[in-house]
Amino acid sequence: MTIKVDTKFKREAERGSHDHAQACNILDAGKLCHVGFTLDGQPYVLPMAYARRDEELLIHGSVASRLMKNLASGLRCCVTVTHFDGMVYARSTFYSSMNYRSVMVFGMARLVTGIDEKKTSIQVLIDHLMPGRHTDVRDSTRKELNATSLLSLPIETFSVKQRTGPPEDLKADLSTPIWAGVVPARQVNGEPVDAPDLLPDVGRPDYL
Ligand SMILES: Cc1cc2nc3c(=O)[nH]c(=O)nc-3n(C[C@H](O)[C@H](O)[C@H](O)COP(=O)(O)OP(=O)(O)OC[C@H]3O[C@@H](n4cnc5c(N)ncnc54)[C@H](O)[C@@H]3O)c2cc1C
Repeated sequence: MTIKVDTKFKREAERGSHDHAQACNILDAGKLCHVGFTLDGQPYVLPMAYARRDEELLIHGSVASRLMKNLASGLRCCVTVTHFDGMVYARSTFYSSMNYRSVMVFGMARLVTGIDEKKTSIQVLIDHLMPGRHTDVRDSTRKELNATSLLSLPIETFSVKQRTGPPEDLKADLSTPIWAGVVPARQVNGEPVDAPDLLPDVGRPDYL
């Protein structure tokens, strides 16, 4: 059965696009996605880590995971990545808004099966989530690899939406004497905290 995915923007269509480079930039800037799927008529949306490898999104999880098992057997999904870039303070509640970038990728995932591809996919994930780390850490054992499922979702059917810039108030509201503008928002890493059982004399690597 052919499933038609509706990626045509209706609301605020000027904020939307299907630009591949724009989608990749937004995907590469994030680490967290939300994976949506429907089981027995009930939608579920689960937060997960991800990485982009060329034209595919990689996600991983336990072989026992309901999500991984169902997606591996062909259940369609929608993966969404969102960046919150700021609160937009308009002069009315109606026109108050958020600045954001988001991508939705729709389709059917492929289960990564070969041991070699599983290993390289895990490296891609680690490199994206913790740049510089994969050459330091112990590789997964065969048992660990067997306990891990990896899924690859093609970045073929997707949509991008973003809002940037100041509030868009009604002309009639511009004379209201209250502050209007944008409070930018961004996610930053905090100061690293050493593990309590860290061996003495182990310094922090530069990539932190
Ligand atoms: C951080 C953030 C906060 C938001 N807050 C609100 C809010 O409070 N209220 C609100 O109404 N809307 C909000 N939006 C916008 C919201 O995501 C939808 O775009 C909007 O509600 C229109 O939904 P719709 O189903 O009518 O879209 P339609 O235009 O009917 O959607 C059609 C298709 O366009 C694409 N599309 C729509 N939205 C997005 C998107 N965000 N990213 C990528 N592709 C998309 C999809 O392919 C979708 O199937 C927010 C978006 C972000 C990223």
